[in-house]
Amino acid sequence: MANSLFAYGSNPAEVTTVILACMDRRLNEEVDRMNEGNAVILRNAGANVMSAEGAIREAIDAYPNIRKIMLVPHLDCGAMGLVSSTILEGKQADNRVYNDLIAQFKGKFKTRKGLEEDVNPAIQMNALKEIIGDRPIMLQSLRLNPAGLVLPADGHPHSLVVVRPSQSHYRFLFDDVNHSLGEDKIGMGSTYVVQPADSSSIRIAVENLNIRQVVFFAESHKDADASRKAAKELQSKDFAKDATILVAERGKVKLRG
Ligand SMILES: [Zn+2]
Repeated sequence: MANSLFAYGSNPAEVTTVILACMDRRLNEEVDRMNEGNAVILRNAGANVMSAEGAIREAIDAYPNIRKIMLVPHLDCGAMGLVSSTILEGKQADNRVYNDLIAQFKGKFKTRKGLEEDVNPAIQMNALKEIIGDRPIMLQSLRLNPAGLVLPADGHPHSLVVVRPSQSHYRFLFDDVNHSLGEDKIGMGSTYVVQPADSSSIRIAVENLNIRQVVFFAESHKDADASRKAAKELQSKDFAKDATILVAERGKVKLRG
């Protein structure tokens, strides 16, 4: 999988599950609990299948034993708040964000509650059904309520980590990121995660979710150029002007911004 979207893995034959979860920081612990080491993890704004479609298709091709896709949206979701305020209240949204996330919900819901409880999970499950076709893959949806989750206390400012999909548990991945940054900058309960990079999800996070730093984490030296390029692109955006943007490479200290 030399040019794969996926960071690394053990034996591809051991991967049996895809978990597509919202990027929300409050879901990290729960996603770690669901990941028994045999799951490849995808994260974006709203557990949005449209944004993850390429990665889902690539996962199905790369890992022949995938038998389950878990969809993990949640209540009190910032992405759904944005969908709701744009469609119901006429708030302006960036064109790309509108096309990648918001447009699919137009005319489909009347309240944010209905959107989060029923409409988003149903739309995403239908989109997954189309992707898997007649493959023997089971679909499950688990809508989380962050109010009911036990979250680790931590005093870090909110961060966003952008990294390739992988089987890593966040409790190890975040240690690796901090090691590469040479400083304990990100924490389990304060870090949003986008996997793989997707500019709409990054924009939604930085613009709406009080993100103070964005870390593009390269899992290997050959990923570092792509991470630097993505960081540079983000730095040029007006909406990101107050965020600290860093590039880190596994095992090396490299700072930017
Ligand atoms: Zn969310």
